[in-house]
Amino acid sequence: MPTGTTFNVQRFSTEDGPGIRTTVFMKGCPLRCKWCHNPEGLSPQPELVWYDVRCVGARECLTVCPYDALELTPDGMRLDRERCTVCGLCEEACPAGALEVIGREWAAEELYAEVAKDRAFYETSGGGVTVSGGEPVMQAEFVEAFLRLCREGEMHTALDTCGHADWGIYQRLLPFVDLVLYDLKIIDKERHREGTGVYPDRILENAKRIAQRGIPMWVRTPIIPGYTDDEDNIARLAAHIRDELSTVERWDLLAYTNLGQPKYCRLGRPYPLDGAELLTRAKMERLHTVALGGGANVAVWSGAVRD
Ligand code: SF4
Ligand code: SF4
Repeated sequence: MPTGTTFNVQRFSTEDGPGIRTTVFMKGCPLRCKWCHNPEGLSPQPELVWYDVRCVGARECLTVCPYDALELTPDGMRLDRERCTVCGLCEEACPAGALEVIGREWAAEELYAEVAKDRAFYETSGGGVTVSGGEPVMQAEFVEAFLRLCREGEMHTALDTCGHADWGIYQRLLPFVDLVLYDLKIIDKERHREGTGVYPDRILENAKRIAQRGIPMWVRTPIIPGYTDDEDNIARLAAHIRDELSTVERWDLLAYTNLGQPKYCRLGRPYPLDGAELLTRAKMERLHTVALGGGANVAVWSGAVRD
């Protein structure tokens, strides 16, 4: 049985499909969206993070590190990621939980046993299990084994994907998937590449093929200032959904949130959208109207906005 690496297993999730769900966040993603709010999911490898608000300056971590990779300075913890092997000794030694290795390896049966603990909640709420990320199809062998177990256990399954993978991978996974949550961000090729690092051709083609197989889809579009929040982009996405994706049951317009910013600090990375403001309510309402006017009458919007 293959193993897989997650960066979170979130119980009682209500955002990632119908009902009460457990969302499994797999590590690794082929895209680099400037607005990504899960930067701990980008690398396929485990990573060490430091929480400044938890640190009590106990310094045990410095003593146990075999590679001298940590330095506690007046400006915070300095981690030399070239030296760090993510051995986890500092995490064990810290009395305050200020150091944490993000990334846990599971066997498929082990993860299945974990999510099965909440089976009663899935059954009473119409929920189930969602595999998300990062990008789950980057660990296709593990995800296939896990979804197969969920299917055998009669749990509702959802796959949350950015769509940027070979069609053959989806062909392997889709027999075990009840619902696909699909990210569609930008139709224009160059602008898509500028925002995410890749062209959208494969993403658009895979979406079409999933719909042609008759699989229910929920499309999700992050509304990001300067990247996806212009009316032309929303109108083009609406037309694409209307004309090409007949199985879309719902289209979520998700207003930009800066809640991911502290995670970039913990990982020692710059935040690409530093200074970006929340969108206004009027803007989101306008884009929602454009979406409906484009024929995507299943569009809904949500998220934090300013007045
Ligand atoms: S994870 Fe291991 S190598 Fe990395 S800083 Fe902590 S103790 Fe040092
Ligand atoms: S596809 Fe999702 S996880 Fe990957 S970089 Fe974009 S926002 Fe982040």
